[in-house]
Amino acid sequence: MDLEQEAKQWMEERGMSNITATEYQRQAAETAIFPKHQALEYLTLGLTGEAGEIANKVKKLIRDGADVEGYNDKLQQIAMELGDVLWYCAMLANEVDANLGRVMEANLHKLADRKSRGVIGGSGDNR
Ligand SMILES: [Mg+2]
Repeated sequence: MDLEQEAKQWMEERGMSNITATEYQRQAAETAIFPKHQALEYLTLGLTGEAGEIANKVKKLIRDGADVEGYNDKLQQIAMELGDVLWYCAMLANEVDANLGRVMEANLHKLADRKSRGVIGGSGDNR
């Protein structure tokens, strides 16, 4: 067994996914059906719509409390909605010719830089 297979097996045994962001982005594109001449608009509306679905589920958890019947199922439903959000993120990345993994790395670098400079809090894109 080569090193890559060994690493995948190790992750599988621990219940971790071994899909890469790049592979996710490639596979997600296989289910992309929307008018290409309005791609940015369509995908942005889809992303905010799915984020809204998460917000609504979280709102209902606030209303019903953590001791509501099926609480863990509701958390699982929120996790599934995260997948919908991710799909739109991946397709938006395609639309702006960005690799999803590189977007993830750039975001982590940005946040680490802000943390090192003590400006994680506050606001503004360029802090
Ligand atoms: Mg959804």
